[in-house]
Amino acid sequence: MTAAAASVEREAGRLTELDSAIGDADHGNNMQRGFVAVVKVLEADRPEAPGGVLVAAGRQLISSVGGASGPLYGSLLRRSGKALGEAAQVTREELRAGLQAGVDAVAQLGGAAPGDKTMLDALVPAVAALGTSFEEAATAAEEGALATVPMLARKGRASYLGERSIGHQDPGATSSALLFAALAEVAK
Ligand code: ADP
Ligand code: MG
Ligand code: MG
Repeated sequence: MTAAAASVEREAGRLTELDSAIGDADHGNNMQRGFVAVVKVLEADRPEAPGGVLVAAGRQLISSVGGASGPLYGSLLRRSGKALGEAAQVTREELRAGLQAGVDAVAQLGGAAPGDKTMLDALVPAVAALGTSFEEAATAAEEGALATVPMLARKGRASYLGERSIGHQDPGATSSALLFAALAEVAK
């Protein structure tokens, strides 16, 4: 979470720039505000189990981020954390299964599917590739984010643009790629 927060901090400008092309120019700010709050609550509460960390982080994102990405990323982390339970340590495979439950929650909450030009276009392939390695998951997320460029947005604000959403990379898929890159970095 700390590595993710640092990456979001570094890349906030780029995320907002992408959101200014097909959204309302706040994705970087939303992510920044959310992850600053996450780091703060984790430092204060110090949950020990990985599941507890994800639940606390998810809850914080839901309450501190106003945009669509807050409840969506919040649900991702909270549901993933619940799936991990109280275990003091988790394997990569257990984390993959937990994150899969989280991604299912995102799809259920937002009603989107891969191909709709959302964060799911990075999250779904990333979680699948996590079955192989953290490195592969990060690569799959990055490729998934790049693959949103030619897509027509069918969910979220970008969908209001219709055909004009084509040719731009989805901000949420881009932030998802940042999160998986941070995970791979820390797992090394
Ligand atoms: P807002 O659109 O409310 O300003 P953000 O700019 O923070 O929120 O986040 C926008 C991102 O949220 C999009 O780029 C997309 O990836 C993601 N998103 C929006 N709606 C959905 C949805 N229904 N399902 C999945 N992801 C979505
Ligand atoms: Mg926005
Ligand atoms: Mg907004």
